[in-house]
Amino acid sequence: MNTGLFKRLFRDKKLRMSLPRLLIYQELLGARIPLSPQELYQSLLKKQKKIGLTSIYRSLDLFESLNMAFKIINGPSVKYILCEIKDHHHHIICKTCGHVVEFDFCDISKWSKKVMESTGYQVTDHQLNFYGFCKACKKVD
Ligand SMILES: [Zn+2]
Ligand SMILES: [Zn+2]
Ligand SMILES: [Zn+2]
Repeated sequence: MNTGLFKRLFRDKKLRMSLPRLLIYQELLGARIPLSPQELYQSLLKKQKKIGLTSIYRSLDLFESLNMAFKIINGPSVKYILCEIKDHHHHIICKTCGHVVEFDFCDISKWSKKVMESTGYQVTDHQLNFYGFCKACKKVD
């Protein structure tokens, strides 16, 4: 998603497009690797853009709730990466290097039905992450 699309998304959702939000987005876009809130803070600071850590956390939370960014939790470390896929999708995370790949196939309708039958809930949504080793980190024997 480029900056123009980003701005349009905010307009469509009737959200305020503040400069900090745009700068944080651009920083993530340019990095192309997952960044932690602290890393974002530092790299913005290097560019003479001082954005408070609280503001960074809030923006990242917002991006995540809009399905624009994915939050990678790996033990105590939390990093964010921008999503390329707009519609419903999933992620696989490398447990060694942290590299993330997105994929848009999702085949859990049967599972969802089972959950509804056994719990009586109406399922509206789900989150599911895959973890493993990427091609470069895969153990070969
Ligand atoms: Zn994604
Ligand atoms: Zn890896
Ligand atoms: Zn799914």
